[in-house]
Amino acid sequence: MRKPIIAGNWKMNKTITEALELVRNLSIELKDIKDVDILVCPAFTALCSVAQAIEGSNIKLGAQNLFWEEKGAFTGEVSALMVKDAHCEYVIIGHSERRSIFKETNDYVNKKIKAALKAGLLPILCVGERLDEREDNKTFDVIADHVHGALEGLSADDLKNIIIAYEPVWAIGTGKVATPDQAQEVHAFIRKIVADNFGKEVSEGLRIQYGGSVKPDNVKILMEKPDIDGALVGGASLKAESFIALVQACSK
Ligand code: PEP
Repeated sequence: MRKPIIAGNWKMNKTITEALELVRNLSIELKDIKDVDILVCPAFTALCSVAQAIEGSNIKLGAQNLFWEEKGAFTGEVSALMVKDAHCEYVIIGHSERRSIFKETNDYVNKKIKAALKAGLLPILCVGERLDEREDNKTFDVIADHVHGALEGLSADDLKNIIIAYEPVWAIGTGKVATPDQAQEVHAFIRKIVADNFGKEVSEGLRIQYGGSVKPDNVKILMEKPDIDGALVGGASLKAESFIALVQACSK
């Protein structure tokens, strides 16, 4: 049985003061939830303060990105060791906004995943097709390309420390959620790629989150699908009320 994981991707939102207010609310209201992993991913600037605020709670911390080099002349970048040093356990890699706005390729994503694993971080690998690709019936080709590209050169043991998030780009921030059947067929496809390349045991342990306009009123029906093991949440993670309701909806 895979433990569900609900992650809040705060993107470029919240000052340190705002981040602390949100996370303090979450840690009080969600303190009794034991059957769902709860993760928040603030901006880099708020990581250390949030880490202190959630110490001893059931809320885990993740970053939204990293750079694969360990140190040096890479102005504006943050390494995996720095992310770890800021008390993060997880890191989001290859989010569609990074792929589209910052032109991240599969090769970048692969290097970032390897750097994260080397530093002892748990990467959340984001994959997903754009609307034009879905309409051209290319969804499965795109997903296969993202998954193979990102996981190239990794071992079965590495896969035990990775989460994959299926995030159809057309559903992110649009209010247009994939139907549970649409999401399930892609999740099952991802699990099959992992089974074919890393073995059945690894694929059965792999957690695959869905992301794209997840809200408290649609999360439960998505999570009922056998291959959906949680959610990566943008907009609805920015308000305590909606993120709390969303996590509670996933708890038995
Ligand atoms: C995301 O950015 O990962 C995301 C899923 O955003 P939203 O929930 O706002 O669609």
